[in-house]
Amino acid sequence: DKALHEKSLLEKRLADIGQVVLVMANKGGVGKSTVTANLAIAMARKGFRVGVADADIHGPNQSRLFNLVGHKVKLAANGLETPGCFGDTLPEPVKVASLAFLMQSDDTPIVWRDAYKHDFIHHLIGSFDWGPLDFLFVDMPPGTGNELITLADLLEGHPTAGVLTTTPQDIALMDSLKAFRFCEERQLPLIGVVENMAGVTCPNCATEFHLFPNTPLEKVLQELDLPSIAKIPFSPALAVASDSGQPVALETPDSREARAFAGAAEAC
Ligand code: ADP
Repeated sequence: DKALHEKSLLEKRLADIGQVVLVMANKGGVGKSTVTANLAIAMARKGFRVGVADADIHGPNQSRLFNLVGHKVKLAANGLETPGCFGDTLPEPVKVASLAFLMQSDDTPIVWRDAYKHDFIHHLIGSFDWGPLDFLFVDMPPGTGNELITLADLLEGHPTAGVLTTTPQDIALMDSLKAFRFCEERQLPLIGVVENMAGVTCPNCATEFHLFPNTPLEKVLQELDLPSIAKIPFSPALAVASDSGQPVALETPDSREARAFAGAAEAC
Protein backbone atom coordinates (compact mmCIF):
# COMPACT_ATOMS: atom_id res chain seq x y z
CA ASP A 1 0.00 0.00 0.00
CA LYS A 2 0.98 3.68 -0.26
CA ALA A 3 2.56 4.02 3.19
CA LEU A 4 4.64 0.87 2.77
CA HIS A 5 5.78 1.90 -0.68
CA GLU A 6 6.80 5.33 0.64
CA LYS A 7 8.70 3.78 3.54
CA SER A 8 10.71 1.43 1.33
CA LEU A 9 11.47 4.25 -1.12
CA LEU A 10 12.76 6.41 1.73
CA GLU A 11 14.86 3.57 3.12
CA LYS A 12 16.33 2.92 -0.31
CA ARG A 13 17.30 6.56 -0.80
CA LEU A 14 18.69 7.01 2.69
CA ALA A 15 20.78 3.85 2.38
CA ASP A 16 22.76 5.71 -0.31
CA ILE A 17 23.11 8.95 1.65
CA GLY A 18 25.87 9.50 4.20
CA GLN A 19 25.55 12.35 6.65
CA VAL A 20 22.47 14.59 6.61
CA VAL A 21 23.07 18.15 7.80
CA LEU A 22 20.01 20.20 8.72
CA VAL A 23 20.75 23.90 8.37
CA MET A 24 18.41 25.63 10.79
CA ALA A 25 17.78 29.16 11.92
CA ASN A 26 14.32 29.36 13.42
CA LYS A 27 14.15 32.97 12.25
CA GLY A 28 13.80 33.98 8.60
CA GLY A 29 16.17 36.32 6.81
CA VAL A 30 19.30 35.56 8.80
CA GLY A 31 21.03 33.90 5.85
CA LYS A 32 20.16 30.24 6.29
CA SER A 33 19.72 29.59 2.54
CA THR A 34 22.96 31.43 1.80
CA VAL A 35 24.80 29.38 4.42
CA THR A 36 23.29 26.10 3.14
CA ALA A 37 24.38 26.70 -0.45
CA ASN A 38 27.87 27.89 0.40
CA LEU A 39 28.46 25.11 2.93
CA ALA A 40 27.39 22.56 0.33
CA ILE A 41 29.69 24.06 -2.31
CA ALA A 42 32.59 24.25 0.16
CA MET A 43 32.04 20.58 0.95
CA ALA A 44 31.88 19.64 -2.74
CA ARG A 45 35.18 21.46 -3.25
CA LYS A 46 36.76 18.94 -0.91
CA GLY A 47 35.74 16.20 -3.33
CA PHE A 48 32.64 14.92 -1.53
CA ARG A 49 29.40 14.02 -3.30
CA VAL A 50 26.92 16.59 -2.07
CA GLY A 51 23.20 17.27 -2.36
CA VAL A 52 21.06 20.22 -1.30
CA ALA A 53 17.41 19.63 -0.39
CA ASP A 54 15.38 22.80 -0.16
CA ALA A 55 12.82 22.18 2.60
CA ASP A 56 11.92 25.86 2.89
CA ILE A 57 8.47 25.37 1.38
CA HIS A 58 7.35 29.00 1.62
CA GLY A 59 10.64 30.45 0.41
CA PRO A 60 12.35 27.90 -1.84
CA ASN A 61 15.40 30.01 -2.71
CA GLN A 62 17.98 27.37 -3.52
CA SER A 63 16.97 27.54 -7.19
CA ARG A 64 18.24 31.14 -7.23
CA LEU A 65 21.50 30.37 -5.43
CA PHE A 66 22.23 27.45 -7.77
CA ASN A 67 21.29 29.39 -10.88
CA LEU A 68 18.27 27.17 -11.54
CA VAL A 69 15.52 29.77 -11.72
CA GLY A 70 12.85 28.50 -14.09
CA HIS A 71 14.11 24.92 -13.94
CA LYS A 72 11.26 22.42 -14.19
CA VAL A 73 11.32 18.98 -12.65
CA LYS A 74 11.78 15.96 -14.92
CA LEU A 75 10.83 12.39 -14.19
CA ALA A 76 13.52 9.82 -14.96
CA ALA A 77 13.80 6.07 -14.42
CA ASN A 78 15.04 6.43 -10.83
CA GLY A 79 12.71 9.18 -9.71
CA LEU A 80 12.59 12.95 -10.03
CA GLU A 81 15.82 14.29 -11.48
CA THR A 82 18.13 16.34 -9.26
CA PRO A 83 19.97 18.75 -11.58
CA GLY A 84 23.74 18.71 -11.00
CA CYS A 85 25.18 22.20 -10.54
CA PHE A 86 28.57 23.82 -11.06
CA GLY A 87 30.19 20.65 -12.38
CA ASP A 88 32.60 22.78 -14.43
CA THR A 89 34.19 24.18 -11.29
CA LEU A 90 33.63 21.47 -8.69
CA PRO A 91 35.05 17.94 -8.75
CA GLU A 92 31.44 16.65 -8.56
CA PRO A 93 28.33 18.71 -9.33
CA VAL A 94 26.08 19.55 -6.37
CA LYS A 95 22.65 17.93 -6.79
CA VAL A 96 19.70 20.15 -5.93
CA ALA A 97 16.00 19.50 -5.27
CA SER A 98 13.48 22.22 -4.59
CA LEU A 99 9.76 22.76 -4.60
CA ALA A 100 10.50 25.64 -6.96
CA PHE A 101 11.07 23.04 -9.72
CA LEU A 102 7.45 21.96 -9.37
CA MET A 103 5.91 25.43 -9.40
CA GLN A 104 4.43 27.06 -12.43
CA SER A 105 5.98 30.41 -11.59
CA ASP A 106 8.28 31.98 -9.03
CA ASP A 107 5.58 34.13 -7.46
CA THR A 108 3.01 31.40 -6.82
CA PRO A 109 2.37 31.24 -3.07
CA ILE A 110 2.20 27.88 -1.34
CA VAL A 111 -1.01 27.56 0.64
CA TRP A 112 -0.75 24.11 2.18
CA ARG A 113 -2.08 22.53 5.29
CA ASP A 114 0.30 20.41 7.36
CA ALA A 115 -0.58 17.09 5.68
CA TYR A 116 0.70 18.39 2.33
CA LYS A 117 3.91 19.66 3.90
CA HIS A 118 4.44 16.30 5.53
CA ASP A 119 4.01 14.57 2.16
CA PHE A 120 6.32 17.02 0.40
CA ILE A 121 9.12 16.41 2.91
CA HIS A 122 8.79 12.67 2.27
CA HIS A 123 8.95 13.25 -1.48
CA LEU A 124 11.92 15.59 -1.12
CA ILE A 125 14.00 12.80 0.39
CA GLY A 126 12.32 9.76 -1.16
CA SER A 127 11.08 10.70 -4.61
CA PHE A 128 14.05 12.73 -5.86
CA ASP A 129 16.89 10.71 -7.32
CA TRP A 130 19.78 11.66 -5.05
CA GLY A 131 22.00 8.77 -6.10
CA PRO A 132 24.92 8.07 -3.77
CA LEU A 133 25.83 11.11 -1.62
CA ASP A 134 28.37 11.71 1.12
CA PHE A 135 26.46 14.73 2.47
CA LEU A 136 22.93 15.98 2.07
CA PHE A 137 22.43 19.56 3.28
CA VAL A 138 18.83 20.49 4.05
CA ASP A 139 17.75 24.13 3.95
CA MET A 140 15.16 24.12 6.74
CA PRO A 141 12.26 26.55 6.95
CA PRO A 142 12.28 28.92 9.90
CA GLY A 143 10.68 27.54 13.02
CA THR A 144 10.41 24.22 14.78
CA GLY A 145 7.19 23.20 13.07
CA ASN A 146 5.92 20.48 10.84
CA GLU A 147 8.83 20.25 8.39
CA LEU A 148 11.44 19.87 11.11
CA ILE A 149 9.38 17.34 13.06
CA THR A 150 8.70 15.33 9.90
CA LEU A 151 12.37 15.31 8.96
CA ALA A 152 13.52 14.44 12.47
CA ASP A 153 11.07 11.52 12.42
CA LEU A 154 12.02 10.19 9.03
CA LEU A 155 15.76 10.56 9.69
CA GLU A 156 15.62 8.77 13.02
CA GLY A 157 18.48 6.28 13.13
CA HIS A 158 20.23 7.94 10.16
CA PRO A 159 23.46 9.92 10.70
CA THR A 160 22.02 13.43 11.06
CA ALA A 161 23.31 16.63 12.59
CA GLY A 162 22.28 20.26 12.72
CA VAL A 163 23.98 23.55 11.98
CA LEU A 164 22.45 26.68 13.47
CA THR A 165 22.59 29.94 11.57
CA THR A 166 22.17 33.12 13.50
CA THR A 167 22.96 36.79 13.26
CA PRO A 168 24.64 38.21 16.36
CA GLN A 169 21.42 39.93 17.35
CA ASP A 170 19.30 39.30 20.43
CA ILE A 171 16.11 38.33 18.62
CA ALA A 172 17.81 36.00 16.15
CA LEU A 173 19.77 34.45 18.98
CA MET A 174 16.67 33.90 21.10
CA ASP A 175 15.00 32.23 18.13
CA SER A 176 18.02 30.04 17.45
CA LEU A 177 17.91 28.86 21.02
CA LYS A 178 14.47 27.39 20.34
CA ALA A 179 15.98 25.31 17.55
CA PHE A 180 18.76 24.38 19.99
CA ARG A 181 16.20 23.15 22.52
CA PHE A 182 14.39 21.19 19.83
CA CYS A 183 17.63 19.40 18.92
CA GLU A 184 18.36 18.68 22.55
CA GLU A 185 14.94 17.15 23.01
CA ARG A 186 15.22 15.03 19.87
CA GLN A 187 18.83 14.10 20.64
CA LEU A 188 19.90 15.55 17.34
CA PRO A 189 23.59 16.46 17.55
CA LEU A 190 24.49 20.06 16.72
CA ILE A 191 27.74 20.66 14.88
CA GLY A 192 27.84 24.34 15.75
CA VAL A 193 26.76 27.82 14.90
CA VAL A 194 27.41 29.90 11.81
CA GLU A 195 27.39 33.57 12.81
CA ASN A 196 26.17 35.44 9.79
CA MET A 197 26.38 39.19 9.25
CA ALA A 198 29.02 39.22 11.95
CA GLY A 199 30.67 42.56 11.38
CA VAL A 200 30.91 44.80 8.35
CA THR A 201 33.80 46.67 6.81
CA CYS A 202 33.27 50.30 5.85
CA PRO A 203 33.86 50.59 2.07
CA ASN A 204 35.35 54.08 2.55
CA CYS A 205 37.74 53.82 5.45
CA ALA A 206 37.99 49.99 5.84
CA THR A 207 37.09 50.21 9.53
CA GLU A 208 35.35 47.07 10.75
CA PHE A 209 32.34 47.51 12.99
CA HIS A 210 29.46 45.44 14.33
CA LEU A 211 25.97 45.78 12.92
CA PHE A 212 24.47 44.53 16.15
CA PRO A 213 26.70 45.62 19.02
CA ASN A 214 26.52 44.25 22.55
CA THR A 215 24.90 40.90 21.79
CA PRO A 216 26.27 38.34 24.25
CA LEU A 217 26.59 35.68 21.55
CA GLU A 218 29.96 34.34 22.64
CA LYS A 219 28.85 34.04 26.23
CA VAL A 220 25.63 32.25 25.26
CA LEU A 221 27.46 29.80 23.00
CA GLN A 222 29.93 29.06 25.78
CA GLU A 223 27.13 28.38 28.23
CA LEU A 224 25.51 26.00 25.76
CA ASP A 225 28.85 24.40 24.90
CA LEU A 226 28.19 25.16 21.23
CA PRO A 227 31.16 25.94 18.99
CA SER A 228 31.06 28.81 16.52
CA ILE A 229 32.14 27.20 13.24
CA ALA A 230 32.18 30.32 11.06
CA LYS A 231 31.88 34.08 11.23
CA ILE A 232 30.58 35.47 7.94
CA PRO A 233 30.79 39.25 7.64
CA PHE A 234 27.99 41.32 6.17
CA SER A 235 29.05 41.65 2.57
CA PRO A 236 27.10 43.36 -0.21
CA ALA A 237 29.21 41.40 -2.72
CA LEU A 238 28.06 38.16 -1.13
CA ALA A 239 24.40 39.15 -1.50
CA VAL A 240 24.88 40.10 -5.16
CA ALA A 241 26.76 36.86 -5.84
CA SER A 242 23.96 34.82 -4.23
CA ASP A 243 21.24 36.59 -6.15
CA SER A 244 23.00 36.04 -9.46
CA GLY A 245 23.50 32.32 -8.88
CA GLN A 246 27.25 32.51 -8.34
CA PRO A 247 27.76 31.86 -4.61
CA VAL A 248 31.03 33.11 -3.13
CA ALA A 249 32.22 29.61 -2.19
CA LEU A 250 32.19 28.82 -5.90
CA GLU A 251 33.33 32.03 -7.54
CA THR A 252 35.80 33.54 -5.08
CA PRO A 253 37.18 30.63 -3.02
CA ASP A 254 40.01 32.77 -1.65
CA SER A 255 37.73 35.47 -0.25
CA ARG A 256 37.36 35.82 3.48
CA GLU A 257 33.73 34.66 3.30
CA ALA A 258 34.52 31.58 1.22
CA ARG A 259 37.36 30.61 3.57
CA ALA A 260 34.97 30.89 6.50
CA PHE A 261 32.52 28.56 4.73
CA ALA A 262 35.36 26.12 4.03
CA GLY A 263 36.12 26.13 7.76
CA ALA A 264 32.48 25.41 8.56
CA ALA A 265 32.45 22.55 6.03
CA GLU A 266 35.52 21.15 7.79
CA ALA A 267 33.55 21.10 11.05
CA CYS A 268 30.79 19.02 9.38
P1 ADP B 1 17.10 32.95 5.08
O1 ADP B 1 17.27 31.69 4.31
O2 ADP B 1 17.52 32.84 6.50
O3 ADP B 1 15.73 33.55 4.94
P2 ADP B 1 18.78 34.19 3.04
O4 ADP B 1 19.96 33.31 2.92
O5 ADP B 1 17.72 34.07 1.98
O6 ADP B 1 18.11 34.04 4.48
O7 ADP B 1 19.31 35.68 3.16
C1 ADP B 1 18.43 36.79 3.23
C2 ADP B 1 19.00 37.93 2.40
O8 ADP B 1 20.20 38.41 3.00
C3 ADP B 1 19.39 37.50 0.99
O9 ADP B 1 19.13 38.55 0.13
C4 ADP B 1 20.89 37.25 1.09
O10 ADP B 1 21.58 37.43 -0.13
C5 ADP B 1 21.31 38.29 2.12
N1 ADP B 1 22.48 37.86 2.91
C6 ADP B 1 22.65 36.71 3.58
N2 ADP B 1 23.84 36.68 4.21
C7 ADP B 1 24.45 37.86 3.92
C8 ADP B 1 25.72 38.44 4.26
N3 ADP B 1 26.60 37.81 5.04
N4 ADP B 1 26.00 39.66 3.75
C9 ADP B 1 25.11 40.33 2.98
N5 ADP B 1 23.91 39.84 2.63
C10 ADP B 1 23.57 38.62 3.09
